Amino acid sequence: MGRIVIAGAGYGGVMAGKKFENSHTPFVMINKHSYHQFITWLHEAAGGRNHVDDYKVELTDIFTRHGTMIVKDEVTGIDRQENKLLTIRGSYPYDYALIALGSAPEFFGIPGLSEYSMQLRSLETARQIRTRIEREFARFKDHKEKSKLRIVVGGAGLTGIEFVGELLEWLPKLCAKLDISSSSFEVITIEATDSILPALMPSLQKTARDILEQKGAKIMTSTKIERVEEGRVYLGSGEVIEAGTIVWTGGVRANTVLSQAGLTCDRRGRAQVNDYLQSIDDERLFIIGDCASLIQSGKPLPPTAQMATQMGQLAAKNILALLTNESMQKFHPKMLGTLASLGSGQGVGTFGRFKTSGTTAGLAKDLTKVKYLYQLGGLRMVTHIRKPLLKQTAWQV
Ligand code: NAD
Repeated sequence: MGRIVIAGAGYGGVMAGKKFENSHTPFVMINKHSYHQFITWLHEAAGGRNHVDDYKVELTDIFTRHGTMIVKDEVTGIDRQENKLLTIRGSYPYDYALIALGSAPEFFGIPGLSEYSMQLRSLETARQIRTRIEREFARFKDHKEKSKLRIVVGGAGLTGIEFVGELLEWLPKLCAKLDISSSSFEVITIEATDSILPALMPSLQKTARDILEQKGAKIMTSTKIERVEEGRVYLGSGEVIEAGTIVWTGGVRANTVLSQAGLTCDRRGRAQVNDYLQSIDDERLFIIGDCASLIQSGKPLPPTAQMATQMGQLAAKNILALLTNESMQKFHPKMLGTLASLGSGQGVGTFGRFKTSGTTAGLAKDLTKVKYLYQLGGLRMVTHIRKPLLKQTAWQV
């Protein structure tokens, strides 16, 4: 039996691990934390829904079979000569490694952005954003500075727009709790291109914009963030916006471990893989999710959880095939649709071949949540371990 090491317990990594457990194949899972975090739902955690810690699940609750070794450590490099993954505390030899280390924010070299903005990229950053907003609102009664209740969200992709939808639901409640007028706060989205939600078709972009503007969002398209200072956002138009909270959701790039290992990467740092999800430079490395660049129909596949889970399942299947001298299978992604939530129970997007918006889209989005929890750990995960996450959805159990 070959030595299999999975680097990263994100969406792709855990799905690969489930596949190995289901086929009774031992593997090592190395992850920075002892838990898997629900990155695609972090806008809820940062935007005041549920408890922040509801958005994680311990790896020992996902992987329960004898033979699985979970290591809490950080992968820092790949020694391709010796076939070892290097970590802060040691090294892990492999016959096949599955690299699923996810992505980090892309700052495009914009001055001050990484220092003076917050990013929605982990459970901890979601907690920091939520705490910052709660603190600014709680202090308002003392200083009455309206700009401190202004929240600027840079980038109107799915991450930014889902966060804005959540804020518009939460902030009026927070104001009521603190006895502040709900006309005191302002949520501003700044987007460089001429439309929001680039992943959706124009009619759905318009529906989402209408819904958010009706709820009070100010959406500035064709407006680029060019510089950020403490509490100040400088726009291409020359305008300067003061804000108590600045959140950057302007895009992602892959983990730097890949380029540092000398793998062929695209301009966002994603390593090129073949149709079997192996690195084009090293057949012992399977690379998936936000770390992988796989060109299909002339474009790289998007770095979404949907792609990562499907890639994780196939990469694990292909490693098992290599270990048993069977043929590997090519990756054929199933595009199941793209849904953006706009607060609890509301959304916009495509579900299969159908366009959907409003509460139907919200229901569809909640259904994807139930489905993912079920994939992770069956009914036990849905009805017991992560039950709190299904509060405020149509799928309360
Ligand atoms: P993104 O790249 O999709 O969107 C970032 C947006 O920021 C773009 O519209 C871009 O034009 C804008 N931008 C970049 N520079 C700017 C600047 N200087 N000033 C103003 N705007 C600027 O990034 P994301 O939303 O973080 O999403 C990353 C990936 O994750 C995408 O593939 C997305 O589809 C996926 N995702 C999916 C879901 C979902 O399926 N519900 C949720 C979140 C993220």
